[in-house]
Amino acid sequence: MKQSMQAVIVSAIGSWTRRERPVPRPQAGQVLVRVAVTGLCRTDLKLIRCGHRDLVLPRIPGEEVVGVVAENGPGAVRHPVGTRVYVYPGEWCGVCAPCRSGAENLCREMRIMGFHRDGGFAEYVAVPEESLIALPEGCAFPDAVFAEPLSCCINAIELSRLTAGERMGIWGAGPAGTLLKRLACRMGAEVVVIEPDGERRERIGGRETADGELFDVCIPAVGDGEAYRAALEHLAPRGRLVAFSGLAADAACRAADYNHLHYHEQSVVGAYGCALRHGAQALELIASGSVAVSDLVSHTLPLSALDAALDMVARRRCMKIHLNPQE
Ligand SMILES: [Zn+2]
Repeated sequence: MKQSMQAVIVSAIGSWTRRERPVPRPQAGQVLVRVAVTGLCRTDLKLIRCGHRDLVLPRIPGEEVVGVVAENGPGAVRHPVGTRVYVYPGEWCGVCAPCRSGAENLCREMRIMGFHRDGGFAEYVAVPEESLIALPEGCAFPDAVFAEPLSCCINAIELSRLTAGERMGIWGAGPAGTLLKRLACRMGAEVVVIEPDGERRERIGGRETADGELFDVCIPAVGDGEAYRAALEHLAPRGRLVAFSGLAADAACRAADYNHLHYHEQSVVGAYGCALRHGAQALELIASGSVAVSDLVSHTLPLSALDAALDMVARRRCMKIHLNPQE
C-alpha cells in the first residue's frame, strides 16, 4: 500500500493546488477506496471558485466517485478488497426525521464527501462502508460514475410527481438536462429542452419555447435566474416547478408570484442531491442500458488538467468531464 498520494486541495476560495498527501487510513466502519474516475460537475466549479454553503476548508473536492476497495477499516466487512464500488457522497446520522423518512440527503448532520470531508480529487478516499454500493457486473467505471448525477435527476423527477403523458420543460442541455430528459422520456412524458447554445441544442434536439407554451413540470437545469423566470412563466395550471439547480448569491431572480401560484394551483418544490437508494436505481438503469450515459463524456483528463477542465465547464465548452486521479 502506498503511503502518499496526489491530491487537489482547496485551501482558500478561488484557488487550488495539487500536492502530495498521506494516503488516509480507514477508521472504524470506513473503507479506503482507490479512485478510478471522479466526475467533474458545475458544483465543483462553484465550490472551488465561489465557495458553497456546505464547504468546509481546507478540502479535497470530488463528490462523484467510483473505484475499488483497497482496504477495510476496523469492523468494515461488507465489501471485500477488490470490490468495484460507487460511493454515495453522503454520510448521514440515520436517526433524524429526514433520515428515517429515507431522505438522507436532508440529514440534519449531513456530511457530504468533497464538501464537509475529503472527496475524490485524489488517488484514494476513505468513506463509510454503508455509503458504498457494489457495481453491477460488467458496468464500466466511466458509465458507473454517472450514478451520482443520475441519482440527483431521479430524485428531482420523483419530487416533480411526473406522470406518463405529461409535458416537461427542461432549461439547459448540459449533462444534467440530458439525463433528466432521458429519465422523463422513459416514463412516457413529452419533453422539451430549452437551450440557447446552438451546438448543445442541436445535440439534444432542443429548441426555444413557443409563446404561451405550457408545461406540467418545469425544471431549470442551469443555475441562472433567467431560466427560473422562464420556467415560472411556462408553468401550466397545477404545474410543478422543481428548484433543481442552485442559484449564485448574486443571481437576479424574480420571486415567485404567490397569487399566480394560488390562482393556478401551482407548486414549487426543491430538489437537492440524492439519497442512497437512488444510487442503486441509477446503477441499475445504467447497467441495463435503460438510460444511456457514455455519449455524455466529452473529456477524460488527469487531475493536473483541472484548471483547463474548470474553464471548459465555466464556458460550457464541454459535456461531462471525467478526471482520472491515477494518471
Ligand atoms: Zn440524519
